[in-house]
Amino acid sequence: MLIRNVVVYDGRGGAPLYDAAVSIDGERIAWVGPLSDLPAEVAADPSVVDAEGRALLPGLINTHVHLSFDGRPDPTSYAANSEAQETLIVVSSALRSLAGGVTTVRDCGARTSAVIALADAVDNGLVAGPRVVASGSFITMTGGHGNWAGVEADGAEAVRAAVRGQAKRGARSIKLIATGGVLTPGTEPGGASYTEEELAAGVAEADRLGIPVAAHAIGTEGIKNALRAGVGSIEHGSYLDDEACELMRARNVSHAPTLSAYHTLVAGGSQDGVAPSIIRKAVGAAQSNTESFRRSVAAGVNVVCGTDAGTPQNPHGGVGLEIRLMVEGGVPISTAVKFATLNSARCLGLADQIGSIEPGKIADLILVDPNFARDPVLLDFPWYVMRDGRSMLNDLPLSDAAKEMSVAK
Ligand SMILES: [Zn+2]
Repeated sequence: MLIRNVVVYDGRGGAPLYDAAVSIDGERIAWVGPLSDLPAEVAADPSVVDAEGRALLPGLINTHVHLSFDGRPDPTSYAANSEAQETLIVVSSALRSLAGGVTTVRDCGARTSAVIALADAVDNGLVAGPRVVASGSFITMTGGHGNWAGVEADGAEAVRAAVRGQAKRGARSIKLIATGGVLTPGTEPGGASYTEEELAAGVAEADRLGIPVAAHAIGTEGIKNALRAGVGSIEHGSYLDDEACELMRARNVSHAPTLSAYHTLVAGGSQDGVAPSIIRKAVGAAQSNTESFRRSVAAGVNVVCGTDAGTPQNPHGGVGLEIRLMVEGGVPISTAVKFATLNSARCLGLADQIGSIEPGKIADLILVDPNFARDPVLLDFPWYVMRDGRSMLNDLPLSDAAKEMSVAK
């Protein structure tokens, strides 16, 4: 298949390539370049899409979602859901993500095994969703953040056992809770929860099993505990200092600033039924969270896109808001696209397969309105979505030939 007449943002952060073409062979990208350089054998491809100047991007990657959460104001109420109810929410959230141009998600914590089952169902072609990297359930200390949807474990040995438990369920990522959280009553986001020793035990066990670890870490002490313990990514990282940034850069640790999660809570306030304590904590950390984003960008950290979708008033779908907030935080649009594609692929250990438009990479591609560069929220409404070289969504106007065919019918 040949997509011609596109503006290519290839995910590597450089200037866009205008008047370009991209050819796909099976599940992989075969050729990328200016239309004027199109080799005759590529141009001869009988399956051609004229993109009419739309922008072509790598499929977007959301490294921090909760597919089993549906944005309701009171997250502690998920405990009352049956597994069947949770499964239906998970499938609905996945479909919304895909329709928003997101072709890969990492789920950062669910109560049941529904997300793990979905990851397999997508791989097997049973559900046409985004590729899913599932973390199983949060691993947290007794009474710690996320205990309403997680596994409580105290002490190094228990944390080790909890990691094994999530691996046994089929988790491909582990989520450890290093600080309190905005959503959990009785915990403060700035305060550390697990000790460095407990975190290190969890990371060592996950390493042994070949599974990367993401740490929920908002306050500085918990962030540094997690970094010294050797985690692969810092989720939120709202109170980063220079030492933390330097540790992250030196150890190739990714930072998901989850700007959308704070933005929606601060903008919405408690009028939507969100508990005043949640709003108080979000307002308290939001400003520092944005400053931490700027700090890690300046330090050269691998900053990634993670929206925390599913948290109160933060719906599943595209990542246009996160990219808009990154641009408002001071990065150029093509850099923000890189954060949401190649950097995010690196965070998930998938950069050799996805995250950029280059020959040999898997064909995860989206066609969007080229004005997204001025209004990133347009990314949430792709015209076309391809995952693994397969068309997953097609809202392109019918070509003249297709129109004739439909009339002939
Ligand atoms: Zn989260």
